[in-house]
Amino acid sequence: MKFYNWMKVYLFVLAGVLISLSASAADKIPDASQHSFANPQQAYVTHLDWNAAIDFNTKRINATAIWDIKIVDQDAKEIIFDTRGLAINLEAIKVNGKLVKASLGPMSELAFMGQALHVPIHKEAKKVEILYHTTDASQALQWVEPTQTHSKTDPFLYTQSEAALARSWVPCQDAPGIRFTYEAHLSVPAGFLALMSVGNNAKSTNSKNEYNYQQTHPIPSYLLALAVGKLTYIPYQNSECGIYAEQTYASTVFNEFDAMPSMVKAASKLYGKYAWGRFDVIVLPPSFPFGGMENPNLTFATPTVVTGRKDLVNLVAHELAHSWSGNLVTNATWNDFWLNEGFTMYVEQRIMEELYGRDFAEMQAALDVNDVKVAIQDFGEKSPDTHLKLNLANRDPDEGMTDIAYDKGYLFLRMLEEYYGRQKWDAFLKSYFTTHAFSSLTTEDFLAYLSSQLVTPEPLVAPEQTAWRKLRIDEWVYGPGLPSNTPVVVAKRFNSIDSVMEIVSKNSTYDLNTILKKDWTTFEWLRFLQAIDPNTDKRILQKLDETYLLTGTDNAEIATDWYLLCLRANYESAFPAMKMFLGKVGRRKFLMPLYFEMNKSDAGKVMALEIYRNSKSVYHSVSRNTISNLLQTDY
Ligand SMILES: [Zn+2]
Repeated sequence: MKFYNWMKVYLFVLAGVLISLSASAADKIPDASQHSFANPQQAYVTHLDWNAAIDFNTKRINATAIWDIKIVDQDAKEIIFDTRGLAINLEAIKVNGKLVKASLGPMSELAFMGQALHVPIHKEAKKVEILYHTTDASQALQWVEPTQTHSKTDPFLYTQSEAALARSWVPCQDAPGIRFTYEAHLSVPAGFLALMSVGNNAKSTNSKNEYNYQQTHPIPSYLLALAVGKLTYIPYQNSECGIYAEQTYASTVFNEFDAMPSMVKAASKLYGKYAWGRFDVIVLPPSFPFGGMENPNLTFATPTVVTGRKDLVNLVAHELAHSWSGNLVTNATWNDFWLNEGFTMYVEQRIMEELYGRDFAEMQAALDVNDVKVAIQDFGEKSPDTHLKLNLANRDPDEGMTDIAYDKGYLFLRMLEEYYGRQKWDAFLKSYFTTHAFSSLTTEDFLAYLSSQLVTPEPLVAPEQTAWRKLRIDEWVYGPGLPSNTPVVVAKRFNSIDSVMEIVSKNSTYDLNTILKKDWTTFEWLRFLQAIDPNTDKRILQKLDETYLLTGTDNAEIATDWYLLCLRANYESAFPAMKMFLGKVGRRKFLMPLYFEMNKSDAGKVMALEIYRNSKSVYHSVSRNTISNLLQTDY
């Protein structure tokens, strides 16, 4: 039995090595079938030439997508693209410049899948040309009204492609395991600047109102991105970094994110050269559904991290970290999403530690541990949705984007770091990124690499004592909840808050104002607010509110935790400001806890529905889908 177990580990490692060898030797494209119609085992795309005209009047993009394709199976009869909500001119589809008879499949019962576009090919086929325009059902696109922008004077357009929305603005093989380079030729209305996920974005508008861009590194479709607005660029001197924002906001953003060049230096020192060229950030209108999106070369960011205190710039560190984990080494399928986000959370922590010290970074780690525990409670201790490796068959991959991938993933990697020590672990991570640059990996590919490089089999050790078992690696990846060897995170800067809050929790009339400090960072505020008992005397909450102007605060992190407390404590005087907040900010991280809390009671549900109806036009489809599902109401 012992021998058998040992052999199993050995064979597993051997198999892993063979898998990675064959992956680099041949065109191994991961199975895309759970979330895409594409048929990469027969033919896949390698390059996109996108010609597009952006029209704010009709809220439409008129475009031609010309795809270079590679045929894998010489007998392949067709190449299949994903589409959703696109008006495709089937009469105009060409292969190698000649018209062909393409067809659209039926609308899938799974809304996120959309429709398959079948294009007949022959073994000489090299180029497929598709003429189309976007529609109101193109869910990646957010056409932002002028009133929802910072300047309030001009409209704005941005895209959000992750997870499976790229197909709603470009017909593509929409699976993270399929990579391609791209070029784009864009025409926009006068005065507007168009930007994409490329390294050669324009720094200012031109008189032709045309922009030509190239992404020379192969990327998956979910990293396709476009933003169009009245934008200003400000570079950071002596660096490859800069920011784009609306003219009225640019200098504020520039000041807030001035650590960007140091972040790039810190990350490159730890994990190898930044591979992409430029690293710029664009700050979008507040409806953007995420904190940030790691579009290559040009991170898309929410304005909700611009606090004037530079204390939420970990968002920039996070998106930069994706330049290694996610963009360089990508999850092969959405079931492996933790490979993108868990690694990124880990790298983000390390960048923050390099710049601001361990004590600062540990505050965030401690808050993350709290988040993952809440998530596990919400899912249920035994829920398969708390596994790192997911099974999202028949589900929108967006449903896998939870704290589990981020925070449980982070804790798993931190556990390995603590076991092996930084020297060994950092060398492993650096080689992981370098060895797999510009490729897509499954969880099993990663585990094989881990066991070949770090957690190597120990022939003379009893199987139950092997490091693999001791570290509970299978439990971490394929099991629910948090294993017993979860690292303990102690944030020193929270100690004084934690000890007082213990006393406070036993005394509902304790004057909270006595423990507050003027120089608290956002993280300290969050720790404090999260620890307040909702049964606290309302007069105490009122005094807190009056002293620190919490109701109506423009710090969205603090606002969310404060309003959550107000809902639980039924502190009604905060509700009008909360409604305004929910009508302006579209970041799902802030919307969900509040809608979730309201939805717990009948009266709260009525309020939630009313707020949602009044606010939904501001939200991007990513947020709208999640909230309409939660409230079981119309999209
Ligand atoms: Zn991320």
